[in-house]
Amino acid sequence: MKRSVLMGIVGLGLLVAFPLVVDNPYYIHLLETIMIYAILLFGLDIVVGYTGQVSLGHAGLFGIGSYTAGVLVMKLGAPLLVTIVAAVGVTAAFGALLALPALRVTGPYLAMVTLAFGTIIQILINEMTFLTEGPLGIKLAKPNLLGHKLDEKEFFWVVAVLLVLSLIVVDRILRSHLGRAFEALRGSPVASDCMGVSVYRYKVYAFVISAGMAGLAGSLYAYSEQYISPNTYNFELTVLFLLAIIMGGRKTRSGALLGAAIIVMLPKLLDDIEMFRYVSCTLAVLVVVGAAVFVKRGKATLARVAIPVVGTIALAALSFVLQTMTDWRLSIFGVITLFVVYYLQDGIIGFIRSTLNMKGSASADAEAARHLPKLDDAVFNAADAPAQLLDARNVLMQFGGLKALNDVNLQVQRGTIHGLIGPNGSGKSTMMNVLTGIYVPTAGSIEFKGTSVVGRTSADIALSGIARTFQNVQLFGEMTALQNVLVGLHHSFHSNLLDVALKTPRYNREDKLGAARALALLQFVGLDDLAGEEARNLPYGKQRALEIARALALNPQLLLLDEPAAGLTAPGIKELIAIVRKIREHGITVILIEHHMDVVMSICDTVTVLDFGQKIAEGNAATVQSDPKVIEAYLGSADVAHA
Ligand code: ADP
Ligand code: MG
Repeated sequence: MKRSVLMGIVGLGLLVAFPLVVDNPYYIHLLETIMIYAILLFGLDIVVGYTGQVSLGHAGLFGIGSYTAGVLVMKLGAPLLVTIVAAVGVTAAFGALLALPALRVTGPYLAMVTLAFGTIIQILINEMTFLTEGPLGIKLAKPNLLGHKLDEKEFFWVVAVLLVLSLIVVDRILRSHLGRAFEALRGSPVASDCMGVSVYRYKVYAFVISAGMAGLAGSLYAYSEQYISPNTYNFELTVLFLLAIIMGGRKTRSGALLGAAIIVMLPKLLDDIEMFRYVSCTLAVLVVVGAAVFVKRGKATLARVAIPVVGTIALAALSFVLQTMTDWRLSIFGVITLFVVYYLQDGIIGFIRSTLNMKGSASADAEAARHLPKLDDAVFNAADAPAQLLDARNVLMQFGGLKALNDVNLQVQRGTIHGLIGPNGSGKSTMMNVLTGIYVPTAGSIEFKGTSVVGRTSADIALSGIARTFQNVQLFGEMTALQNVLVGLHHSFHSNLLDVALKTPRYNREDKLGAARALALLQFVGLDDLAGEEARNLPYGKQRALEIARALALNPQLLLLDEPAAGLTAPGIKELIAIVRKIREHGITVILIEHHMDVVMSICDTVTVLDFGQKIAEGNAATVQSDPKVIEAYLGSADVAHA
């Protein structure tokens, strides 16, 4: 934290000094443009890098910001503070509009829809001449600030201050529970919802914040250029923004800064043959030296580095063959881009980080949490209320012609471990999905604590006290173990955006408490040593344990475990049994789907058996095990499996 403050001050100092040292307006304007793009890219990275949604609509949002400022200045002579606030507000509102399709579609479809959004914005700006002057564009002068007319340098400083402020605010957001919610969406939307983090809500938040940043950048751009016209905000610009994130490296602020510098500088460098020769030679030398070091240290094979080495040398050679750049500019730009995207999938910053083996900030968080006083195990609540916790009646779940659940009744008593068994495909997981709102049952009623859950969202049901794990593990892979659990603790954060941006005492308190609780939960499942490890790097058994810790973070009254022992070794299964027993001791009711009969028999108080979507037996473990119908169901399915 201290280090980042220091870096911020040094960075701001350098930026402030820049126009004093470099008196050339061309370079001042160039750096100003980089800063403005960087502000937009911080926001775009929230959507692209963190929530994992594609947006090709950001040039449109940028345009809305510019035109809000432009129109306000032209029509009303509005002062800087008003135009900036209005641009952020108006663009954020359009961001909410852009989020609507993102709630329905993802991937290429979303790319198409956002692209259409950008195009429509451009057309509207062009056509609404009464407001925007259409293709003529709007001219505006450098703004007044507090009655003083800013000159080039002073405006540069305004942009520099806003850049640093944006950087700090965005960084704080992304390190908070809000940022974790965004990142969780990318990792697993289903799991996010089941951890009480509404995918719907956080997608909209992400787009709104992102759009607000684009609006801020757009308004500054209008003053910076002093002339805006519709064709600036075109398809090329939107692709360029996306490229900047990919090339710089997603999920880092330095990546956004570098990306902004690349997209502003690279086309300029490619304009001038002398400059291009110089740059391509430097690049070739860097790559050759880098490759040599890598191969020597055994970090890469000769074959792996061959293409980059040959490629950059060829590029350098080409620069001396060419006489002019004009015809080649775009092709070379394209090739360089492809090259970076293909070879450095985590972008340039990601590549540098992994080479220097720098750990992300998350491990630092885990370190910090380690020094906090640990909570005892009593982090869950045990409510004493009516004995029956869950009451599902006549549940029917139909997929087309298939009745995955056919008239199933399931009553679960508080404080018990309730086994749910049956051959593969008998409807066990479907039951969990129905209970957690992933599917809405075709018919039947489900009451949890006397209240119906049918038709409610997964997030809502989760917050009411039902937590779960998944048969096919659904962790947030790029997040650390600690962060995964912190997503489960999302409900314990009540700080809003302002609290986060200003780091109010309330937020600091929640943050500290959250980290301590998360660590206590990791300890509970024996993962505290791996708190700083990315979930995707954990061995399978540990991933399952992490899912349990994350589910417990919800502070549930009912915990659904879907085949938690699958793929575990014998000692692993023993540990799991101990953990499940401990969970019950804390007063949490458990529904356990399990294939290992010994596990079921040793810990379940009651067992329900499903077969082809129907309940065929129920009772204590011993009775069920000797039930002829159950034996037949299992043997029958074994026959099928052998056939
Ligand atoms: P289990 O967990 O007991 O092995 P499931 O609940 O996963 O079984 O599946 C029960 C049946 O429902 C299976 O035949 C499965 O193919 C079907 N099924 C589950 N989910 C869906 C779905 N989303 N669409 C269509 N069929 C499904
Ligand atoms: Mg299943």
